[in-house]
Amino acid sequence: MPLVTLSYLLKRAQKGKYAVPAFNINNMEILQGIVYAAEKEKSPIIIGVSEGAIKYAGLDYLKAMVDVAAKSKVKMALHLDHGKDIELIKKCIDAGFTSIMIDASFHDFKKNTEITKKVAAICHKKGISVEAELGKLQGVEDNVHVEKGIFTDPDEASLFVKKTGIDALAVAIGTSHGAYKFKGESNLRFDILRKIREKVNVPLVLHGSSQIPIELVRQANTCGAKIKGAKGVPNNDVKKAIKLGICKINIDSDLRLAFIAGMRQALCNDPDCIDPRKILGSGRSAIEKIASEKMRFFGCKNKN
Ligand SMILES: [Zn+2]
Repeated sequence: MPLVTLSYLLKRAQKGKYAVPAFNINNMEILQGIVYAAEKEKSPIIIGVSEGAIKYAGLDYLKAMVDVAAKSKVKMALHLDHGKDIELIKKCIDAGFTSIMIDASFHDFKKNTEITKKVAAICHKKGISVEAELGKLQGVEDNVHVEKGIFTDPDEASLFVKKTGIDALAVAIGTSHGAYKFKGESNLRFDILRKIREKVNVPLVLHGSSQIPIELVRQANTCGAKIKGAKGVPNNDVKKAIKLGICKINIDSDLRLAFIAGMRQALCNDPDCIDPRKILGSGRSAIEKIASEKMRFFGCKNKN
């Protein structure tokens, strides 16, 4: 079926009180693993493409692969994740993306509002949805690098949504990008999320919410990886966030970890193997498994 917009998927999620996972893709195997899971779970999905992914795989390759994936029955949106470069945003619009995230959150409130409003106007003219971010998420992810996070201010959030006309708002409540989210216990600010929800009507988005399952870290480390101290957002925190109005949850680090752990396992089990399909195929199966888990956990199984 044709690609759908982010707004379409998130409005249904908001009504149904579940969250749709936004999975970042970088290559064919990752995309296939996600789509196989979505077919099996009958779940809608958001395919996230970052500027880094475009740099790695090329916009045309990624779009062509997603067009093939869209021949399935899965309702999917094609989304630019953390778009910062206006020229690239325009290229994605022309290529047929159905959703754009404009990330001008590194600017001050006024400038962020100005830029976001401009991009929203361009996208809405073409029927494309827009997500923007207010506040700052700590951590490292492709071209996003923030040393110290800043929580989203609920009053500013309300003003920001009204002024820009965006379809979805990414909030900063203590999650962070990358595999090393917390030194101690996780400490998400649900009080802030609750206040934002009271003041803002558009669907809310949580970035940096990979769980970093310990069994995957162990599996990778058993097969030669040296991943130390990785820590994600506990499952219960994610569940609570969905209850408080989060409708889109971005998952990148968990996919990376699963893919690497799956490939390492294949390399370990069969050191003589020179067939890349066996190695990549094992990574693809690991992606399918973790994507399935997310769909069930976020409540979007059977919501296609
Ligand atoms: Zn993000």
